[in-house]
Amino acid sequence: MDGVLNEVTNTVHKHETGKSKFDTECGVTYHLSADDLRVLGTIESELDGTNASRCGRCFDDGGGY
Ligand SMILES: [Zn+2]
Repeated sequence: MDGVLNEVTNTVHKHETGKSKFDTECGVTYHLSADDLRVLGTIESELDGTNASRCGRCFDDGGGY
């Protein structure tokens, strides 16, 4: 699964398959600059090595919004 990291809030979002590279399922990145975003290869492996939180709208078990 691909993800998109918001480097400002340190929150990981799910990439919406078939959309442009920074589009997420919750749509929040529509409002953000590409400079603040980073595409992740695999969400699960990235989260293991960081303290990033998961978007509450993209992930059922995520934290806040
Ligand atoms: Zn999200």
